[in-house]
Amino acid sequence: MNNEPDPHQEIRDAVRQLCSQYPDEYFRQVDEKKAYPEKFVDALMEAGWLAAMIPEEYGGPGLGLTAASVIMEEINRCGGNSGAVHGQMYNMSTLLRSGSQAQKEKYLPAIAAGKLRIQSMGVTEPTTGTDTTKIKTTAVKKDGRYVINGQKVWISRVQHSDLMILLARTTPLGEVTKKSDGMSIFIVDLRQAIGHGLTVRPIPNLVNHETNELFFDNLEIPEENLIGEEGRGFKYILDGLNAERTLIAAECIGDGYWFIERATKYAKERVVFDRPIGKNQGVQFPIAEAFIEIEAANLMRFEACRLFDAYLPCGGPANMAKYLAAKASWEAANVCLQTHGGFGFSNEYDIERKFRETRLYQVAPISTNLILAYVAEHLLGLPRSF
Ligand SMILES: Cc1cc2nc3c(=O)[nH]c(=O)nc-3n(C[C@H](O)[C@H](O)[C@H](O)COP(=O)(O)OP(=O)(O)OC[C@H]3O[C@@H](n4cnc5c(N)ncnc54)[C@H](O)[C@@H]3O)c2cc1C
Repeated sequence: MNNEPDPHQEIRDAVRQLCSQYPDEYFRQVDEKKAYPEKFVDALMEAGWLAAMIPEEYGGPGLGLTAASVIMEEINRCGGNSGAVHGQMYNMSTLLRSGSQAQKEKYLPAIAAGKLRIQSMGVTEPTTGTDTTKIKTTAVKKDGRYVINGQKVWISRVQHSDLMILLARTTPLGEVTKKSDGMSIFIVDLRQAIGHGLTVRPIPNLVNHETNELFFDNLEIPEENLIGEEGRGFKYILDGLNAERTLIAAECIGDGYWFIERATKYAKERVVFDRPIGKNQGVQFPIAEAFIEIEAANLMRFEACRLFDAYLPCGGPANMAKYLAAKASWEAANVCLQTHGGFGFSNEYDIERKFRETRLYQVAPISTNLILAYVAEHLLGLPRSF
């Protein structure tokens, strides 16, 4: 909103240029077919955008989360949905911060070259939900391998990824003093695992989001696929979760600006009672209010990015950015739909599609209530409510 030059303008222009080749009709058709945007994702990989965070020594440009978040924002701002690709960015931060030298050498150059995807993260389970420390999926060490048994739910992009970061219990909950101890994270090579101990069952859902139930039945993975030290996985995955929340905040900001732009344009053009509908305060005020909220959420998003990139604690701002941005984009979606009247319901305007897409972020990757509980407990020192 100010006149200062945007330090990310080059990235924005380049991503917009790429996205301009994938207009509304492309994403509308992908949505109607419940398909994966293959061509778009291939183009992003070829242009190197999904390797943004990989350090130069492994063949990437070595950009931080801030730049990655701008890429995700722009995709959503142009009418697309970063949900098809954002896993690569937040999983990357887990691998970069907690992976061994050998793991980085093995995977990063191939990811940078666009030959390998690390798009999936398996945390959520059907019987434990947000109560992550109670997960029941186990990894038991045996003869130089880990044997995985259990079940996950809502695990996205498994069918469009080569690698997945998996959270499993390596020490039973009853045997640890701190309940977040005793969990570990692993790199699962999906190309080898599916059909050999891992079964994938897709979940049809409200948005066009490739997401699945996973069943582990004695899946064996090499012990060198353990990330970091055994039993400390929850700590490691928090980096990925904070990155995920921050990136999703940026995606919501992108959605929010998309909704505001569409609503503003339509409010100027649509004439009813011989005047543009945008001349009525009842139409313009909600758009202005939604815009203010997007702008405010954007400040918190950049603060969370800054702290993450500086290796400083960022749990508070990452959660608050996700809360504010998801709320603001949902308000903007509602206002955009209302401004378009009946036409907002037509698939042709793409508003109903984006409306469904942005709704997800009230629930995933962490629900609004759980963010409020985090802030109450960790930032305000109130008693833990669960
Ligand atoms: C499309 C989609 C894609 C997803 N992709 C992934 C993925 O790739 N990987 C992955 O691991 N997970 C993924 N998830 C899972 C997602 O992270 C969870 O759905 C989310 O964290 C909420 O967990 P839950 O569904 O088990 O809800 P629950 O934990 O069962 O909660 C249900 C409701 O109760 C509320 N609630 C629960 N406990 C409390 C409490 N103590 N106080 C107040 N309110 C409470 C919650 O806020 C929520 O509204 C995805 C989900 C969806 C829908």
